[in-house]
Amino acid sequence: MRILLSNDDGIDAPGLRALAAALAPVAELFIVAPATEQSAVGHAITMRDPLKVRKWHRDDEFFGYAVSGTPADCVKIALCTLMKRPPDLVVSGINQGANLGTDIIYSGTVSAATEGTLLGVPSIAVSVNCYERTARFDTAARVAATLAADVPGMKMPRGTLLNVNVPNVAYEELKGWRLTSQGRSKFVENYIRRIDPRGTPYYWIGGKFVETDEPAHADYLAVKHGFVSITPLHFDVTDYSFLHASKARLERMFNRAPRTRRR
Ligand code: MN
Repeated sequence: MRILLSNDDGIDAPGLRALAAALAPVAELFIVAPATEQSAVGHAITMRDPLKVRKWHRDDEFFGYAVSGTPADCVKIALCTLMKRPPDLVVSGINQGANLGTDIIYSGTVSAATEGTLLGVPSIAVSVNCYERTARFDTAARVAATLAADVPGMKMPRGTLLNVNVPNVAYEELKGWRLTSQGRSKFVENYIRRIDPRGTPYYWIGGKFVETDEPAHADYLAVKHGFVSITPLHFDVTDYSFLHASKARLERMFNRAPRTRRR
């Protein structure tokens, strides 16, 4: 099996190192990751600047390619140019910090995996529920290795990726695995206002994760209760229930105006 690894914490992140260590025994790895941390850049790509691709060494050995761009840039350039043929799987992570609920839209980790599926390769995003460098990346790496072995047999629909969040505990302490839906919990922002050395005010985003009323199958609840959360995601964000419930009524409403004018 051949696997493309990427992330949003950067090529030197401990989560990527743990992921590579866990997958190297079972797959041929190709690593393309941002040269610098790109957390919360979402699905941005670089258009106004050139992309620089640099060979990156770790412990005197070639590790992968560092790209002067975003996570989506990394997967795009890997699949479109750097790799001679497409891999069997894209794994993005392991992110330092969970990607749950409404966070998903900001997540560079999830976007790298989304880019993989947009380009036709089965993809998974893996995050560990801890924002410190001391996170249990080893546990999440074992989860990723298990999934990497199972994904080819899963018959995932084209365009669907798996968003995986792992509790920050030892592997033996995991309660199990849950298939979940994207929840509603989110960070509530608070902006800190300070004054720079030249007297100009600036703002810095902060915030804390707020638990909202969640459906029983929500991603956040699974992780909170010690389970690995696996949420199948796809890029089509159409609100089908609203579309089907309101299509006829709204089309009648919007089409009325021009017709009256013509008369
Ligand atoms: Mn990150």
